[in-house]
Amino acid sequence: MNPPSHVINLDGEVIIVLLNADSLFTEPSEDMITHRFPHNLPELNDTIQNTAKDMKRPEDYIETPKTIFGGKRKGKKKKGGYKNVRAPLEPISPPTEEPAIAEEYAIAEAPAIAEAPAIAEEPAIAEEPPAEEPIEQPFETNLVFESANRGYFRIQVSAKHLMLASSVFRKILTGSWKESITFLEKGSVEITAESWDIEALLILLRAIHGQQYQIPRKLTLEMLAKVTVLADYYECKEAVYIWTTTWIDALGEELPKTYCRDLFLWLWISWFFQLPAQFKDSTSTIMSLSNDWISNLGLPVSDKVTEAMNNCREEAIDNLIRRLHQTRRDLLDGSRGCGFECSSIMYGALTKEMQLNNLLSPRPTPPFPSLSYKCLVQKVLSFKSPQWYSRPSSYSSYGSSHHHICLHSSFPFLFGTLNEFIRGLDLHNLNG
Ligand SMILES: [Zn+2]
Repeated sequence: MNPPSHVINLDGEVIIVLLNADSLFTEPSEDMITHRFPHNLPELNDTIQNTAKDMKRPEDYIETPKTIFGGKRKGKKKKGGYKNVRAPLEPISPPTEEPAIAEEYAIAEAPAIAEAPAIAEEPAIAEEPPAEEPIEQPFETNLVFESANRGYFRIQVSAKHLMLASSVFRKILTGSWKESITFLEKGSVEITAESWDIEALLILLRAIHGQQYQIPRKLTLEMLAKVTVLADYYECKEAVYIWTTTWIDALGEELPKTYCRDLFLWLWISWFFQLPAQFKDSTSTIMSLSNDWISNLGLPVSDKVTEAMNNCREEAIDNLIRRLHQTRRDLLDGSRGCGFECSSIMYGALTKEMQLNNLLSPRPTPPFPSLSYKCLVQKVLSFKSPQWYSRPSSYSSYGSSHHHICLHSSFPFLFGTLNEFIRGLDLHNLNG
């Protein structure tokens, strides 16, 4: 049998077999201007795939107290970016050959480990690559794992810890799946997972096992997103909530001001950890800068959030375009403008500017493709206001003409102050 590449719990009855650990994480959408990441990350819409493949080292595992974990919980239905959270499972055969990575990170010798005391001598932990140290430099640590196409890992974990922390693992091990039957019969089992980032999975598993001293105090935004996606997927948020302040403070990053993938990672993290300020900021920037229908990039952000952002964006754009058209009608019927010349000149100028900026005919309609709210505001702010001279008043001492100025004689007067950013969403409203 293949030895575990990582040992979280030396007496663990479960081997999590991670396949395709070098898969892609969220892909940026086409309208994003930058931030295509240089390394591969797992996709989010993957299924947990499990096998009932027997473990071949029963002496390494204890008998599971079946009666303790016998309860079967109903799982909540997943929403958002998830598909097939707990897919009906086609057994997946692990690679027949032991990958090179397994040797590099493997426990040296099983017997030697077995003789060592429990936590202190988990060789895999002691020999962890730099990725297990507090992550200070983005990407560098990931390259350690990904440079050799190492997509296959075996992680030894405790069934008890998994089931206490995660309702998903509890269902896998106690439900009607083949894995749970195998586990009940043999006291050990392999559970196959696919396409997760190995480093993120190890962080989560150590949090589940209470090994706080093995958890990095500082994560990159990318890694934090991966860990929280895993925690959400396996329904064990409580295992990582304790790290909220530490990880968020250690990020030390301001939210991006451009429409990029990092912005959505922040959206996800602020939603997961329930951070009102970051949630408001990220939704504001996304809604203001998106020039099309806003997706969740495959992140498990609630559909409510995506829907609210799209509604807000469309409403803001629609309202401003309505103002333009209403103002034009008001100038046409003379309800705005201080007189015939004033309304006529402003009507003509506004008509020309709207046509020039593709806002008149055809009138833009939802979902307003290729138009962001910020861009729309900038267009309106760029409208050139006409200048013309009024006749000198008969009461004027000098009889010279002057620039006409009234409440309607320029576009800034007509439209007032325009903010380029839509107000962000309130977290508590969406939670309610
Ligand atoms: Zn006027």
